[in-house]
Amino acid sequence: MNKNSKLPKLALVIPCYNEGAMLKITIEQLLRLLNDYVEREVIAANSFALLVDDGSKDETWQILQSSSNHFIKAIKLSHNVGHQHALIAGLTYVTNQVDCCISLDADLQDDISVTEEMIANYTSGSQIVYGVRGSRETDKAMKRGTAQLFYKLMKRMGVDLIYNHADFRLLSNRVLVELQKYKEVNLFLRGLFPQMGFKSSKVYYKRKARIADQTKYSFKQMLHLAVNGITSFSNFPLKMITYIGFAIFFCSFIISLWVLFVWTSGRAVPGWASITLPVYFLGGVQLLALGIIGEYLGKIYLETKARPRFHIEEEI
Ligand code: UDP
Ligand code: MG
Repeated sequence: MNKNSKLPKLALVIPCYNEGAMLKITIEQLLRLLNDYVEREVIAANSFALLVDDGSKDETWQILQSSSNHFIKAIKLSHNVGHQHALIAGLTYVTNQVDCCISLDADLQDDISVTEEMIANYTSGSQIVYGVRGSRETDKAMKRGTAQLFYKLMKRMGVDLIYNHADFRLLSNRVLVELQKYKEVNLFLRGLFPQMGFKSSKVYYKRKARIADQTKYSFKQMLHLAVNGITSFSNFPLKMITYIGFAIFFCSFIISLWVLFVWTSGRAVPGWASITLPVYFLGGVQLLALGIIGEYLGKIYLETKARPRFHIEEEI
């Protein structure tokens, strides 16, 4: 970068939930990175890392409090709101404070050395830079499988997702400002940014294994994220009900013809199966349909309440 031009002020935004086991190592590595970038004039000297304590129950906040360094800022959310909302809290906090920010996980599974390439892409005009996993071999087979299924499903439903990209990304302040215009409570960031349409680019990296502790994402949270992603961006499940309805209507038409035929041919001993099967089948389909409708209704309910997504309790 040209030394005379203004260096970008960067914030690294890191949600942390019960990360006590490795937070010190993470902070050390972040400090080394920021120091190096400032020294080599990649970023402005007043850049910083913002760690968001997502209502941890371990010593995460104590560690953050004791790490007094001008590069480290931290906020503590009053209770656990989940990775996505904790991330939004951090992004909201740095909006208009920086030129760009990079979000990453506290376990540093995402290779922080590619952040330099991200910043280079930003200075050459990208408003969003997606970190894309070149390989997922460090993820468990189960996680890989479900992720694969999710991407396929979303694509089917017409939602534009960046393949193998999670929440490791650079956002310019302009994008951060735009993000604040989205008032819905259940924001699905991975679907949102590609849809915003700003100039973007990708950098590729190899995802590492967690060096300490284990994933803070329970299966329930993962499932919630997937369902939220689908219902936030697509009406396909609703349309599906109509399609299934049509199919069932068609089938019952054929079955009625068959019943009519059996009846007129005089062999009509009313079959147990032909009565009970449709009862079970239709019962199942109706329940499924109600479930999907309920999912959307639940969303409307939550959105009409328009509750704040987080409350900041303390600030360093
Ligand atoms: N996280 C969070 N709140 C939660 C769960 C997770 O802030 O309720 C943070 C966690 O500390 C980490 C990031 O979200 O920085 C990603 O979590 P994790 O590494 O456990 O997910 P995985 O890499 O297994 O998808
Ligand atoms: Mg992780």
